[in-house]
Amino acid sequence: MVVQEQLALFGGTAAVKSVYSDMFKWPIITEEDEVAALDVLRNGNMSGIDITVQFEKEFAAWLKTDYALAFNTGTASIHAAIFACGVGVGDEIICPSLTYWASLLQVYSLGGTPVFAEVDPDTLCLDPDDIEHRITERTKAIVVVHYIGHPADMDRIMAIAKKHNLKVIEDVSHAQGSLYKGSKVGTIGDVGAMSLMSGKSFAIGEGGILVTNQRDIYERAVAFGHYERFGANIQSEELKPFAGLPLGGYKYRMHQVSSAVGRVQLKYYEQRIAEIDKASNYFWDQLAGLPGIRAHRPAQNSGSTMGGWYSPHGFYVGSELGGLSVTRFCEALQAEGAVDCSPGCNLPLHLHPLFHEADIYGHGKPTRIAHSQKDIRQGAGSLPVTEGVNARVFAIPWFKHNDSSIIDEYVHAFRKVIGNAHLLLENDPGNPPMTGNWNLSTRVTVKK
Ligand SMILES: *Cc1c(COP(=O)(O)O)cnc(C)c1O
Repeated sequence: MVVQEQLALFGGTAAVKSVYSDMFKWPIITEEDEVAALDVLRNGNMSGIDITVQFEKEFAAWLKTDYALAFNTGTASIHAAIFACGVGVGDEIICPSLTYWASLLQVYSLGGTPVFAEVDPDTLCLDPDDIEHRITERTKAIVVVHYIGHPADMDRIMAIAKKHNLKVIEDVSHAQGSLYKGSKVGTIGDVGAMSLMSGKSFAIGEGGILVTNQRDIYERAVAFGHYERFGANIQSEELKPFAGLPLGGYKYRMHQVSSAVGRVQLKYYEQRIAEIDKASNYFWDQLAGLPGIRAHRPAQNSGSTMGGWYSPHGFYVGSELGGLSVTRFCEALQAEGAVDCSPGCNLPLHLHPLFHEADIYGHGKPTRIAHSQKDIRQGAGSLPVTEGVNARVFAIPWFKHNDSSIIDEYVHAFRKVIGNAHLLLENDPGNPPMTGNWNLSTRVTVKK
């Protein structure tokens, strides 16, 4: 139900009253993490790989993959994954435009280029119906992003990839622990790669990790940026002659303070995200049936989950609230104390000048089409679903604990704002031309 109490925006009492320090704090760091990090520092073991190798073993065991390879960033892990899939000069990868740049931008440095496809309006992940017509003889791989925790439609994407002999790279940066029909995301495609930086759901400091069941992909990833492991253990005849030096010219190993913290975080991760899942589902369940908003989550009992609910968002349906803009809607929520509720998410990458004009490496033409036979740049209007997303989504609080007394205050804020939506129409400035951001803000809110 909605409530009609006076909005805080108009002088009423704010719905969110609790003073909290833990509800939004992330990652959860205990003495065990501190001891693990200090051990690395005191032993002067920051640049080794012994702890990292342990972390990789445990991570692979958690995801049930044959191989895991840790990196100093998620960006590096995805760079290596794209290389490992054989993407090179003139090749194309099909990827969503609604994502963080590091899902795909690394392809430039390999001489390849991205081809952006639409997202499904309900999952916000790559739309299987918009992939096939973009495949050319230059397409090598599909990059899937399980966007803000939601698993992509892997069955259909894998079928398309198989039919056209393409590799599938899963960017799991938003979705460590999310399930797709019972399987962990990152383990369904040819290779999974992900960020483990502090803002993410699996948060260990700067870091990334790649997982695969394919020995050749693993070895190519090792050869690309892990020179210290590129040696006698390598079985590939193609790679062997170059052992000792990194093929990519990159040094990508993980800092061992990160891997030490990662080992501790991994022990508690499932338990912690189970609590986040309960809290977030509780929040949406309380709001079920209200006009103007819809949850972004898979159907119950589908076997699919939102993992750690990284940067959770909801859908906004302004037409059910008299045409109120999401910008004004969020302004009222923020006044109620729901300070994390901001309009939009990632801006559509395909509209950024980096994918139109930039000549980064001196090809004498834009890098995007440096090796293309025709102009594949995608301008405004080319991906209407993606371009429209920012007017129909907004951030919701990222609850870390299933404390209903606090969550209920946020529920109350939503009920108030929705119940008073008609009053907000009067001074509604509408949305600015671009709602959202190139980066999702990964706020660690500690309200004073
Ligand atoms: C954060 C992120 C990355 C990059 O990871 P870093 O660890 O920051 O380098 C890649 N893809 C997505 C979708 C991300 O959100």
